Amino acid sequence: MFRLEKRFTFPMGHRLCKHDGACFNFHGHNYVVLVGLKSTILNKNDMIIDFSHLKEELNAIFDVLDHAFMINKEDKEMVEKLQNADLKVIPVDYDPTAERMAEELYFAIQAKLPKLRIKAENSELCLDYVTIFENENSKATFSEIA
Ligand SMILES: [Zn+2]
Repeated sequence: MFRLEKRFTFPMGHRLCKHDGACFNFHGHNYVVLVGLKSTILNKNDMIIDFSHLKEELNAIFDVLDHAFMINKEDKEMVEKLQNADLKVIPVDYDPTAERMAEELYFAIQAKLPKLRIKAENSELCLDYVTIFENENSKATFSEIA
């Protein structure tokens, strides 16, 4: 099995409205995301996928998150205030923890797999995992493999 990993970074604010500690407050992280891909074969260029092609395809996902504020839809009053202030707000169906963000990113990237396979000329290209760091000491990973 061949594996590769590409790193993406973006700053984003969030608030965990279900949290009873400091994370209840508005704050942000310089998120680091590691996207792991795997394949049993290599393409005609001896690659799983060209790193630059991977970047081109996934940048759209990270551009949406860049300098945004992610907030639980249940936090209705705050969502409304932020949206009325014309800020870049992303209301989601969960508290935007690293675990939930890793899961959400995993499925967003998985949805791009058909296009990535065509670009890579590699029909065996698979998504392995998504790991997200809130800081250098704290990370969460989502993978469908137990
Ligand atoms: Zn946080």
